[in-house]
Amino acid sequence: MFIVLVGPPGAGKGIQGERLSKHLDAPWLSTGDMLRSAQHAQTPLGREAQGFLEKGDLVPDPIVIGIVSDRLEVGDCDDGCLFDGFPRTIAQAEALDELLLHRDTPLDLALELRVDDEIILERLSGRNREDDTLNTIANRLRVYASRTKPVLDYYGTENNLCTVDGVGSVDEVFRRILKCINDHQPRNK
Ligand code: AMP
Repeated sequence: MFIVLVGPPGAGKGIQGERLSKHLDAPWLSTGDMLRSAQHAQTPLGREAQGFLEKGDLVPDPIVIGIVSDRLEVGDCDDGCLFDGFPRTIAQAEALDELLLHRDTPLDLALELRVDDEIILERLSGRNREDDTLNTIANRLRVYASRTKPVLDYYGTENNLCTVDGVGSVDEVFRRILKCINDHQPRNK
């Protein structure tokens, strides 16, 4: 299955994504992780992305789409994969549709992990990541509302969206995710 995980920062995409990828035995593609690795390794891509990551702004679409497109070429995603934190804009969602259609493996499901802003702020202020300062968190939430929420409408219209309540224990949320996947009738299968 090809699945995208969409949710605000701190919704639990990382922890649930990693677990789901093991469960489905499908690669887990986190653009945030790829960008952070590039930043720490100070590759040209990492240097380009650094300022955006530090401010909590989105890295420009062509860069992120390029990373995902290259990653899909690796060859381990032929039967499916889990995109975590991608797409975050309508342009990225359209590009992903094109990339997947070109490979004849259209997207099966968009999973939204929904968590309210107040809970996010509580969760993230206890986390220890470089981009988790209060200003950056506030900016990332604004960016999510303005740039990424429209992506949910995009998938909703396509009938591909399943929304999961992201508040609860890791196990509870994971069970809700599995139910979503089980209940979902893939369009093209
Ligand atoms: P994440 O680990 O998914 O929270 O992503 C951390 C940061 O990486 C984000 O705040 C953005 O600066 C950048 N990033 C990750 N994925 C994307 C994406 N799909 N588009 C643009 N920027 C991204």
